[in-house]
Amino acid sequence: MSLGSPLIRYWYNPTADMVGETVEAFLQEMAGPTLIHIPGANRQRKRAVCTLLHGNEPSGTRGMFRFLQEGMQPAVDLLCFFGSVRTALHEPPFFYRHLPQDRDLNRCFKAPFESDQGRLAKAILDILQEMNPEALVDIHNTSGMGPSFAVSMKQDAQHEALTSLFTKRMLVTGLRLGALFEYSERDVPTVTIECGGAQDPRADDIAYEGLVRYATANDVLTPQPADWQLEVLTEPVRLELRDDARITYSEAEDVYADITLPPNVEHYNFGRITEEVQLGWVKPESWDKLVINTPAGVDVKDKILKLDGNRLYPAQPLKLFMITTNASIAKSDCLFYAVTDDGSHLQ
Ligand SMILES: [Zn+2]
Repeated sequence: MSLGSPLIRYWYNPTADMVGETVEAFLQEMAGPTLIHIPGANRQRKRAVCTLLHGNEPSGTRGMFRFLQEGMQPAVDLLCFFGSVRTALHEPPFFYRHLPQDRDLNRCFKAPFESDQGRLAKAILDILQEMNPEALVDIHNTSGMGPSFAVSMKQDAQHEALTSLFTKRMLVTGLRLGALFEYSERDVPTVTIECGGAQDPRADDIAYEGLVRYATANDVLTPQPADWQLEVLTEPVRLELRDDARITYSEAEDVYADITLPPNVEHYNFGRITEEVQLGWVKPESWDKLVINTPAGVDVKDKILKLDGNRLYPAQPLKLFMITTNASIAKSDCLFYAVTDDGSHLQ
């Protein structure tokens, strides 16, 4: 079998004593992007899992480390990709999503694959294409606090079955950002699992327990009668900030900031938020620095948010999620995702 990529170390069937005593030792042993191939009881089929695309999201790596330490045998061959190993190893460990000079690896799974991260993303896609797994799961942590959920491009029985191995919430999005879960387009069921906050020990358990189910079940693509009732959220939009926007997290309005949010804003994650709930403050002259477009590029900001003076409110009952309290992520990626509470269309 050719597994040619000089960018990714191929590590076949490491035993428990080869993966080190700690997750940090495990990362040091890998040293860079790595594919661990664990042979299954059935060698005719394969499933893939990817994690650590973001260097500050440890739950998937910890879950796989535990799985390897316990020497569990998967039902079918398991291909485990570890992406931003060097980023995670950079001091302090598990601190950087991506290094300041690097691109966000999970925005690089689309042409033109020109940066170092783009070439690594292409190498992962090429191996997936060659190995042809029956499913792919990409494990992340959210940057803020909040419950677990899955992100999927498709809402069908296979994607719901994959989701239910890990969590009971599924977000269905047509946004194309160059993220790995867009691999679903190649007819391999793929979901992203957001296990919850990187500092939350429950997130590690969600990753590990889900991985065990994913690896050991004979069938992961047929919904089980006992599956939790999935909460499905469709058509999320993102609140993005213009490059020149200044954001501050503070209990009181910061007059020098364009947008101020309270430090506990992430507590709104997944709750229902009515129009009376003040989200924060925006200077009226800075309103244009907030951008909310549908995947088709239609401006729907006025359907999501409204200003009363300089106070920011929802324009209708909403559910918000992936709210970040990290200003650099808010600016480089997005501040939060939103769906209408009643599931109504935004355009
Ligand atoms: Zn992530």
